[in-house]
Amino acid sequence: MKTAEGLSLKDRTRGILVGLAIGDSLGAPVEFIPAPSDVHIKEMGDKIAHFHKNYRVPEGVWTDDTEMALCIADSLIEKSGYDSYDIMRRFCAWAYEGYRTYDGRPAADVGAQTMNAIQDFAEYPVIPKGSIKTDSAGNGAIMRLAPIIIANSNIEQLLKMAELSCRETHDSIAACAVTELFASSVYLALQDNDKDSIVAHCAELVTDEKYSKFIATNHDILFERSLDSTGEKLCNLGGYIVDAFAIALWGLLNFDSFEDGMLAVLRLGGDTDTNGAIYGQLTGAYYGHESIPEEWRNGVYKADELVEIADKLFGIRGCPIIRTRFEDDEYFKEIG
Ligand SMILES: [Mg+2]
Repeated sequence: MKTAEGLSLKDRTRGILVGLAIGDSLGAPVEFIPAPSDVHIKEMGDKIAHFHKNYRVPEGVWTDDTEMALCIADSLIEKSGYDSYDIMRRFCAWAYEGYRTYDGRPAADVGAQTMNAIQDFAEYPVIPKGSIKTDSAGNGAIMRLAPIIIANSNIEQLLKMAELSCRETHDSIAACAVTELFASSVYLALQDNDKDSIVAHCAELVTDEKYSKFIATNHDILFERSLDSTGEKLCNLGGYIVDAFAIALWGLLNFDSFEDGMLAVLRLGGDTDTNGAIYGQLTGAYYGHESIPEEWRNGVYKADELVEIADKLFGIRGCPIIRTRFEDDEYFKEIG
Protein backbone atom coordinates (compact mmCIF):
# COMPACT_ATOMS: atom_id res chain seq x y z
CA MET A 1 0.00 0.00 0.00
CA LYS A 2 1.44 3.31 -0.95
CA THR A 3 2.08 6.14 1.39
CA ALA A 4 0.94 9.69 0.73
CA GLU A 5 4.41 11.13 0.22
CA GLY A 6 5.82 14.61 0.30
CA LEU A 7 3.23 16.17 2.58
CA SER A 8 4.17 18.75 5.16
CA LEU A 9 3.39 18.01 8.77
CA LYS A 10 1.37 21.21 8.93
CA ASP A 11 -0.82 20.16 6.01
CA ARG A 12 -1.44 16.81 7.68
CA THR A 13 -2.40 18.48 10.99
CA ARG A 14 -4.84 20.75 9.16
CA GLY A 15 -6.24 17.60 7.59
CA ILE A 16 -7.01 16.11 11.02
CA LEU A 17 -9.29 18.94 12.17
CA VAL A 18 -10.82 19.76 8.78
CA GLY A 19 -11.30 16.04 8.08
CA LEU A 20 -13.18 15.69 11.37
CA ALA A 21 -15.53 18.58 10.56
CA ILE A 22 -16.18 17.37 7.00
CA GLY A 23 -17.04 13.83 8.10
CA ASP A 24 -19.33 15.24 10.78
CA SER A 25 -21.16 17.59 8.42
CA LEU A 26 -21.49 15.13 5.52
CA GLY A 27 -22.70 12.42 7.88
CA ALA A 28 -25.08 14.49 10.00
CA PRO A 29 -28.02 14.56 7.54
CA VAL A 30 -28.04 10.76 7.34
CA GLU A 31 -27.23 9.84 10.95
CA PHE A 32 -29.26 6.88 12.20
CA ILE A 33 -31.83 6.99 9.42
CA PRO A 34 -34.15 3.98 9.69
CA ALA A 35 -32.56 0.54 9.41
CA PRO A 36 -31.13 -0.80 7.29
CA SER A 37 -29.66 2.67 6.94
CA ASP A 38 -26.96 1.58 4.50
CA VAL A 39 -29.69 0.57 2.03
CA HIS A 40 -31.49 3.93 2.36
CA ILE A 41 -28.22 5.80 1.95
CA LYS A 42 -27.37 3.85 -1.21
CA GLU A 43 -30.74 4.89 -2.61
CA MET A 44 -29.72 8.54 -2.15
CA GLY A 45 -27.10 8.07 -4.87
CA ASP A 46 -24.82 11.07 -5.23
CA LYS A 47 -26.64 13.24 -2.73
CA ILE A 48 -24.53 11.96 0.12
CA ALA A 49 -21.38 13.25 -1.60
CA HIS A 50 -22.55 16.85 -1.20
CA PHE A 51 -23.42 18.99 1.77
CA HIS A 52 -27.17 19.19 2.05
CA LYS A 53 -29.54 20.39 4.72
CA ASN A 54 -32.09 18.33 6.50
CA TYR A 55 -34.19 18.67 9.60
CA ARG A 56 -31.09 18.52 11.77
CA VAL A 57 -28.64 21.04 10.32
CA PRO A 58 -28.19 23.52 7.46
CA GLU A 59 -25.85 22.43 4.67
CA GLY A 60 -22.18 22.16 5.60
CA VAL A 61 -22.85 22.65 9.30
CA TRP A 62 -21.34 20.22 11.76
CA THR A 63 -22.67 18.86 15.06
CA ASP A 64 -21.52 17.88 18.56
CA ASP A 65 -18.41 16.07 17.30
CA THR A 66 -16.83 19.22 15.91
CA GLU A 67 -18.36 21.51 18.53
CA MET A 68 -16.73 19.54 21.35
CA ALA A 69 -13.44 19.40 19.46
CA LEU A 70 -13.51 23.20 19.20
CA CYS A 71 -14.23 23.52 22.95
CA ILE A 72 -11.02 21.56 23.55
CA ALA A 73 -9.11 23.53 20.89
CA ASP A 74 -10.15 26.89 22.35
CA SER A 75 -9.05 25.78 25.80
CA LEU A 76 -5.67 24.38 24.71
CA ILE A 77 -4.92 27.56 22.78
CA GLU A 78 -6.04 29.99 25.47
CA LYS A 79 -4.30 28.13 28.31
CA SER A 80 -1.29 27.01 26.24
CA GLY A 81 -1.80 23.57 27.70
CA TYR A 82 -4.31 21.07 29.08
CA ASP A 83 -6.51 22.24 31.96
CA SER A 84 -9.28 19.79 32.91
CA TYR A 85 -11.39 22.41 34.64
CA ASP A 86 -11.27 24.83 31.73
CA ILE A 87 -12.18 22.14 29.20
CA MET A 88 -15.10 20.96 31.33
CA ARG A 89 -16.30 24.54 31.83
CA ARG A 90 -16.38 24.95 28.07
CA PHE A 91 -18.30 21.67 27.69
CA CYS A 92 -20.82 23.07 30.23
CA ALA A 93 -21.08 26.36 28.34
CA TRP A 94 -21.61 24.39 25.14
CA ALA A 95 -24.32 22.14 26.61
CA TYR A 96 -26.17 24.83 28.56
CA GLU A 97 -25.47 28.12 26.78
CA GLY A 98 -24.70 27.29 23.17
CA TYR A 99 -20.98 28.06 23.21
CA ARG A 100 -19.55 26.89 19.83
CA THR A 101 -22.94 25.79 18.47
CA TYR A 102 -23.83 27.23 15.05
CA ASP A 103 -27.09 28.84 16.17
CA GLY A 104 -25.98 29.93 19.66
CA ARG A 105 -28.55 27.66 21.28
CA PRO A 106 -27.68 25.05 23.91
CA ALA A 107 -26.17 21.99 22.23
CA ALA A 108 -28.86 19.97 20.49
CA ASP A 109 -27.12 16.63 20.35
CA VAL A 110 -25.27 15.70 23.53
CA GLY A 111 -24.39 12.04 24.06
CA ALA A 112 -25.92 10.51 27.20
CA GLN A 113 -22.61 9.70 28.90
CA THR A 114 -21.24 13.14 28.02
CA MET A 115 -24.30 14.84 29.50
CA ASN A 116 -23.95 12.83 32.72
CA ALA A 117 -20.32 13.90 33.03
CA ILE A 118 -21.19 17.55 32.39
CA GLN A 119 -23.94 17.47 35.01
CA ASP A 120 -21.61 15.80 37.52
CA PHE A 121 -18.93 18.41 36.85
CA ALA A 122 -21.37 21.25 37.40
CA GLU A 123 -22.20 19.75 40.81
CA TYR A 124 -18.74 18.63 41.93
CA PRO A 125 -15.78 19.25 39.61
CA VAL A 126 -13.18 17.06 41.32
CA ILE A 127 -13.10 13.30 40.65
CA PRO A 128 -12.15 11.83 44.04
CA LYS A 129 -9.41 9.26 44.55
CA GLY A 130 -10.50 5.69 43.91
CA SER A 131 -13.62 6.63 41.96
CA ILE A 132 -15.16 3.66 40.22
CA LYS A 133 -14.70 3.63 36.47
CA THR A 134 -17.77 3.53 34.27
CA ASP A 135 -18.41 0.87 31.65
CA SER A 136 -19.35 3.49 29.09
CA ALA A 137 -17.53 2.84 25.85
CA GLY A 138 -19.18 5.33 23.52
CA ASN A 139 -17.39 6.78 20.52
CA GLY A 140 -17.58 10.31 22.02
CA ALA A 141 -14.01 10.32 23.27
CA ILE A 142 -12.40 9.93 19.84
CA MET A 143 -14.85 11.92 17.75
CA ARG A 144 -13.37 15.13 19.24
CA LEU A 145 -9.70 14.15 19.61
CA ALA A 146 -8.12 16.20 16.77
CA PRO A 147 -6.93 19.20 18.86
CA ILE A 148 -5.15 16.95 21.36
CA ILE A 149 -3.32 15.14 18.55
CA ILE A 150 -2.30 18.34 16.78
CA ALA A 151 -1.05 20.02 19.98
CA ASN A 152 1.34 17.17 20.85
CA SER A 153 4.63 16.21 19.26
CA ASN A 154 5.73 13.41 21.53
CA ILE A 155 3.86 10.09 21.65
CA GLU A 156 4.06 9.56 25.44
CA GLN A 157 2.65 13.01 26.16
CA LEU A 158 0.03 12.61 23.41
CA LEU A 159 -1.24 9.37 24.95
CA LYS A 160 -1.36 10.87 28.44
CA MET A 161 -3.36 13.86 27.24
CA ALA A 162 -5.63 11.74 25.02
CA GLU A 163 -6.39 9.43 27.95
CA LEU A 164 -7.18 12.39 30.18
CA SER A 165 -9.50 13.92 27.61
CA CYS A 166 -11.29 10.57 27.36
CA ARG A 167 -11.66 10.26 31.14
CA GLU A 168 -13.36 13.66 31.36
CA THR A 169 -16.54 12.09 29.98
CA HIS A 170 -15.90 8.37 29.28
CA ASP A 171 -13.86 7.01 32.17
CA SER A 172 -13.76 3.34 31.21
CA ILE A 173 -10.99 0.89 30.30
CA ALA A 174 -12.53 0.26 26.87
CA ALA A 175 -12.93 3.93 25.94
CA CYS A 176 -9.44 4.89 27.17
CA ALA A 177 -7.81 1.89 25.47
CA VAL A 178 -9.34 2.70 22.09
CA THR A 179 -8.66 6.41 22.54
CA GLU A 180 -4.96 5.65 23.00
CA LEU A 181 -5.06 3.22 20.08
CA PHE A 182 -6.71 5.79 17.83
CA ALA A 183 -4.31 8.54 18.91
CA SER A 184 -1.41 6.19 18.10
CA SER A 185 -2.82 5.44 14.65
CA VAL A 186 -3.21 9.11 13.76
CA TYR A 187 0.26 9.80 15.18
CA LEU A 188 1.75 7.14 12.89
CA ALA A 189 -0.13 8.59 9.92
CA LEU A 190 1.30 12.03 10.76
CA GLN A 191 4.78 10.51 10.82
CA ASP A 192 4.42 9.43 7.17
CA ASN A 193 4.01 5.72 7.86
CA ASP A 194 2.30 3.66 5.18
CA LYS A 195 -1.04 1.97 5.83
CA ASP A 196 0.40 -1.44 6.68
CA SER A 197 2.79 0.08 9.22
CA ILE A 198 0.00 2.03 10.87
CA VAL A 199 -2.01 -1.15 11.38
CA ALA A 200 1.03 -3.21 12.38
CA HIS A 201 2.38 -0.78 14.98
CA CYS A 202 -0.45 1.30 16.45
CA ALA A 203 -1.15 -1.19 19.27
CA GLU A 204 2.57 -1.32 20.21
CA LEU A 205 2.60 2.36 21.08
CA VAL A 206 -0.02 1.80 23.78
CA THR A 207 2.09 0.80 26.78
CA ASP A 208 -0.37 0.90 29.67
CA GLU A 209 -0.91 -2.73 30.56
CA LYS A 210 -4.65 -2.52 31.21
CA TYR A 211 -5.23 -0.88 27.83
CA SER A 212 -2.91 -3.26 25.97
CA LYS A 213 -4.80 -6.15 27.50
CA PHE A 214 -8.14 -4.75 26.28
CA ILE A 215 -6.72 -4.27 22.78
CA ALA A 216 -5.30 -7.81 22.70
CA THR A 217 -8.57 -9.32 23.92
CA ASN A 218 -10.58 -7.39 21.34
CA HIS A 219 -8.07 -7.69 18.50
CA ASP A 220 -10.50 -9.39 16.12
CA ILE A 221 -13.26 -6.82 16.34
CA LEU A 222 -10.80 -3.90 16.34
CA PHE A 223 -8.70 -5.05 13.37
CA GLU A 224 -10.01 -8.11 11.52
CA ARG A 225 -13.28 -6.57 10.33
CA SER A 226 -11.39 -3.72 8.69
CA LEU A 227 -9.55 -6.17 6.41
CA ASP A 228 -12.77 -7.37 4.74
CA SER A 229 -13.29 -4.99 1.83
CA THR A 230 -17.06 -5.61 1.70
CA GLY A 231 -17.53 -3.92 5.08
CA GLU A 232 -20.38 -6.36 5.69
CA LYS A 233 -19.82 -6.58 9.43
CA LEU A 234 -19.56 -2.82 9.82
CA CYS A 235 -22.99 -1.77 8.49
CA ASN A 236 -25.55 0.11 10.60
CA LEU A 237 -23.38 0.26 13.69
CA GLY A 238 -23.73 3.01 16.21
CA GLY A 239 -22.07 4.29 19.27
CA TYR A 240 -19.51 1.69 20.39
CA ILE A 241 -15.97 3.04 20.31
CA VAL A 242 -14.52 -0.28 19.12
CA ASP A 243 -16.82 -0.26 16.07
CA ALA A 244 -15.95 3.36 15.32
CA PHE A 245 -12.24 2.53 15.31
CA ALA A 246 -12.76 -0.51 13.05
CA ILE A 247 -14.80 1.58 10.60
CA ALA A 248 -12.13 4.30 10.37
CA LEU A 249 -9.46 1.68 9.77
CA TRP A 250 -11.63 -0.02 7.13
CA GLY A 251 -12.00 3.29 5.28
CA LEU A 252 -8.24 3.84 5.39
CA LEU A 253 -7.26 0.36 4.25
CA ASN A 254 -9.73 -0.34 1.48
CA PHE A 255 -9.76 2.92 -0.49
CA ASP A 256 -7.13 5.10 -2.14
CA SER A 257 -8.32 8.60 -1.31
CA PHE A 258 -9.86 10.65 1.50
CA GLU A 259 -12.96 11.13 -0.66
CA ASP A 260 -13.61 7.51 -1.67
CA GLY A 261 -13.07 6.21 1.86
CA MET A 262 -15.31 8.90 3.35
CA LEU A 263 -18.22 8.11 1.01
CA ALA A 264 -17.83 4.40 1.68
CA VAL A 265 -17.76 4.95 5.45
CA LEU A 266 -20.94 7.07 5.29
CA ARG A 267 -22.65 4.47 3.11
CA LEU A 268 -22.19 1.90 5.89
CA GLY A 269 -24.98 3.77 7.69
CA GLY A 270 -25.41 3.86 11.47
CA ASP A 271 -23.73 6.66 13.42
CA THR A 272 -22.61 8.31 10.21
CA ASP A 273 -21.55 11.75 11.45
CA THR A 274 -19.33 10.38 14.18
CA ASN A 275 -17.98 7.57 12.00
CA GLY A 276 -17.19 10.21 9.38
CA ALA A 277 -15.55 12.48 11.97
CA ILE A 278 -13.30 9.67 13.21
CA TYR A 279 -12.39 8.42 9.73
CA GLY A 280 -11.82 12.07 8.71
CA GLN A 281 -9.19 12.61 11.43
CA LEU A 282 -7.22 9.48 10.59
CA THR A 283 -7.21 9.98 6.84
CA GLY A 284 -6.92 13.76 7.08
CA ALA A 285 -3.56 13.01 8.72
CA TYR A 286 -2.68 10.34 6.18
CA TYR A 287 -3.61 12.09 2.92
CA GLY A 288 -3.32 15.72 4.14
CA HIS A 289 -5.59 18.75 3.90
CA GLU A 290 -4.72 19.53 0.28
CA SER A 291 -5.94 16.12 -0.86
CA ILE A 292 -9.48 16.76 0.35
CA PRO A 293 -11.89 17.73 -2.48
CA GLU A 294 -12.20 21.52 -2.75
CA GLU A 295 -15.99 21.40 -2.53
CA TRP A 296 -15.66 19.85 0.90
CA ARG A 297 -12.68 21.89 2.09
CA ASN A 298 -14.33 25.17 1.14
CA GLY A 299 -17.96 24.23 1.76
CA VAL A 300 -17.70 23.03 5.32
CA TYR A 301 -19.03 25.51 7.89
CA LYS A 302 -16.32 27.94 9.11
CA ALA A 303 -13.78 26.45 6.70
CA ASP A 304 -11.21 29.24 7.17
CA GLU A 305 -11.53 29.30 10.93
CA LEU A 306 -10.95 25.54 11.13
CA VAL A 307 -7.61 25.95 9.32
CA GLU A 308 -6.68 28.91 11.55
CA ILE A 309 -7.43 26.87 14.66
CA ALA A 310 -5.44 23.88 13.38
CA ASP A 311 -2.48 26.21 12.74
CA LYS A 312 -2.72 27.73 16.21
CA LEU A 313 -2.72 24.25 17.74
CA PHE A 314 0.27 23.37 15.58
CA GLY A 315 1.94 26.49 17.00
CA ILE A 316 1.64 25.18 20.58
CA ARG A 317 2.83 21.63 19.81
CA GLY A 318 4.39 20.08 22.88
CA CYS A 319 2.23 22.10 25.29
CA PRO A 320 2.06 20.71 28.85
CA ILE A 321 -0.66 19.23 31.01
CA ILE A 322 -1.32 22.14 33.39
CA ARG A 323 -3.70 20.52 35.83
CA THR A 324 -6.35 17.84 36.05
CA ARG A 325 -9.40 17.30 38.22
CA PHE A 326 -8.64 13.62 38.94
CA GLU A 327 -7.43 13.35 42.52
CA ASP A 328 -5.42 10.19 41.83
CA ASP A 329 -3.59 11.80 38.92
CA GLU A 330 -0.03 13.18 39.05
CA TYR A 331 -1.23 16.47 37.54
CA PHE A 332 -4.11 16.92 39.98
CA LYS A 333 -4.63 20.40 41.40
CA GLU A 334 -7.48 21.83 43.40
CA ILE A 335 -10.00 23.90 41.54
CA GLY A 336 -9.22 27.60 41.65
MG1 LIG B 1 -22.86 14.39 15.96
